[in-house]
Amino acid sequence: MKPAKPVHATQTQFAVIDGELQLGGMSIRRLAQRVGSTPFFVYDRQALTARVAHVRAHLPQQVLLHYSLKANPMPAVVQHMAGLVDGLDVASGGELKIALDTPTAAAKINFTGPGKTDAELAQAIAAGIVINLESSGELRRIDRLAQACGIQASVMVRVNPDFELKSSGMKMAGGAKQFGVDAELVPALLKELATAHVHFHGFQIYSGSQNLKAEAIIEAQAKTFELALQLSGHAPHAPQLINIGGGFGIPYFPGELPLDIAPIGQHLHHWVAQLATRMPGTRIATEMGRYLVGEAGVYITRVVDRKISRGQVFLITDGGMNHHLAASGNLGQVIRKNYPVVIATKMYPDVTEVTSITGPLCTPLDLLADQMALAQADRDDLVAVFQSGAYGLTASPNDFLGHARPLEILV
Ligand SMILES: *Cc1c(COP(=O)(O)O)cnc(C)c1O
Repeated sequence: MKPAKPVHATQTQFAVIDGELQLGGMSIRRLAQRVGSTPFFVYDRQALTARVAHVRAHLPQQVLLHYSLKANPMPAVVQHMAGLVDGLDVASGGELKIALDTPTAAAKINFTGPGKTDAELAQAIAAGIVINLESSGELRRIDRLAQACGIQASVMVRVNPDFELKSSGMKMAGGAKQFGVDAELVPALLKELATAHVHFHGFQIYSGSQNLKAEAIIEAQAKTFELALQLSGHAPHAPQLINIGGGFGIPYFPGELPLDIAPIGQHLHHWVAQLATRMPGTRIATEMGRYLVGEAGVYITRVVDRKISRGQVFLITDGGMNHHLAASGNLGQVIRKNYPVVIATKMYPDVTEVTSITGPLCTPLDLLADQMALAQADRDDLVAVFQSGAYGLTASPNDFLGHARPLEILV
């Protein structure tokens, strides 16, 4: 038998009573009864509110905070977030609908993303939201559609900077990318824009995601402000908004430490002051998904079978990679590591054992825990996967193997 993988500290912000995880003010077993079926995702309203307050406490109050729906577009979650943040960022016609169903003013909704269709652009123009421009071809299409609508489209230029956010989980800028307009081509695009049927609103400079290093984020933000100031000299008028991106990450794996946002906030104070003298009237926005919602969500799945194969213990659950691709290690991870997984019905176990937890799919990729030291569990115990509030259900191949789609609840 292979040695056990390191045990996760069962670090959880959620309460435990009588050895059972508590969510939504009740034990996980009772919550599962309330939901009526397993598996399910549960998102905690208080945790969402507390996280936004934490960000606000550290960032200068002048910096606008936007929520990116891509991380978790569940309508109830988005409604809740809409009441806490200053704007919503959407990346499809579907997300646009969810955002427009909230009380958020259209002018505070941004539509980003490569490959926006004419139909999506026309919807966005009619809605009066801000479109983040990703290419000169897109500008020509927006110009034509805006004229046809008889409406001035409001656009920000999404810039593909000539730098990247170092040590990011996902690189989304620097070098050749499908996202945004290469920084060196932006002056020419701004010239074209000045004669189009559009209103120039500002710049979006997004350089990466899932970063746990404050110094890397601070460095990228400094370069972002310098680039924004330089490009603003080519704009038809001063930008109303500079969206500096986000990139704030959350810890998933053993050894990862939470991002310390205090020094990021301190440096932003400097940039807020700089901007106030050099471009008064220009606002700064930061956009994030995962950092705001990721830790507030838990995926719950039930043990259907327990078996021992050649000495190794397997718990087989009623859900897995079809609902939570990231936790199975198949969403962009190079080396598979275990998410923080616990037996939620046996949080203070008398007996632990090295266990693998697999979902019900007929593929070895469907793995939620690879030889973790966990409570000795059996059929009907409930498994909780923490850090599941972002890139969970909607980032997973729900139809693979044809199991029912899990419910999502906000408690
Ligand atoms: C994905 C994405 C985000 C959100 O990233 P998180 O890691 O969830 O914060 C923000 N902006 C853009 C442009 C994105 O593509």
